[in-house]
Amino acid sequence: MAFSLRMSEQNIWVGKFSLFPEDIAVHGISTRLGGVSKPPFESLNLALHVGDEPAAVGENRRRFCRALGFSEERLCTAEQVHGERIVRVTEAEAGRGARAYADAIAGTDALMTDVPGLPLLLCYADCTPVLLLDPVHKAAAVVHAGWKGTALGIAGKTVRAMEAAFGTRPENCLAAIAPAIGASCYEIGEDVAAKFQAAFPAFGEKIVRRVSGRPHLDLWQANYRQLEAAGLLSRHIEIAAVCTACNTGLFFSYRAEKGTTGRIGAMIALK
Ligand SMILES: [Zn+2]
Repeated sequence: MAFSLRMSEQNIWVGKFSLFPEDIAVHGISTRLGGVSKPPFESLNLALHVGDEPAAVGENRRRFCRALGFSEERLCTAEQVHGERIVRVTEAEAGRGARAYADAIAGTDALMTDVPGLPLLLCYADCTPVLLLDPVHKAAAVVHAGWKGTALGIAGKTVRAMEAAFGTRPENCLAAIAPAIGASCYEIGEDVAAKFQAAFPAFGEKIVRRVSGRPHLDLWQANYRQLEAAGLLSRHIEIAAVCTACNTGLFFSYRAEKGTTGRIGAMIALK
């Protein structure tokens, strides 16, 4: 089983990928269960920018971080804008955005580091979380890849940024594609379909599928193909293959919940 949910001792569910060695990095995907936020953010909303009570988000973050063995005060987060900016974070950025969204790293959709004990967190509701780990050079990254970021190639660009910053060799790099909206639930417009067919000419029909004549986008496949094109080995890429829109009991879904909902988190920290 590539991806599985495990209940922590603190009654918080943590999504784990079997490919990622726990002796090198701690990682986890949160669910919406076990938090204190009220509807429509019930209950483990990890995002400060969606209109939820900041104190509730703080408590939720504390619970999720504690389940993974970290302090929420060291979380490093970003103001996610569906762009392609990738930032290398160091000890100086520990705690950025941990308490206030205004303090998060501005205009950034991928964070990478080689500093141990620095938890990187990005937040999602349907967009694709991609985790990257270079077990050789001990470097990690987390990527926010919605359709815009995926079309911009942010996951592949993060692999190249890790190569430049840390000496990461793509053939050593591990990747995980966490729960995100699946193709059957993700109908898109013809304009977006055309962008993806142009961005992925060799795999167009695998990434944009027709359901009753309407285009549907497969963000899992698009990111998988992008990581392969960046030089990752297929056996080093795990896909959770869990649709957030089909599983709103466990995850938040922007589309299924019509835009007003909380966010799950994808976190990774080097040991
Ligand atoms: Zn679905």
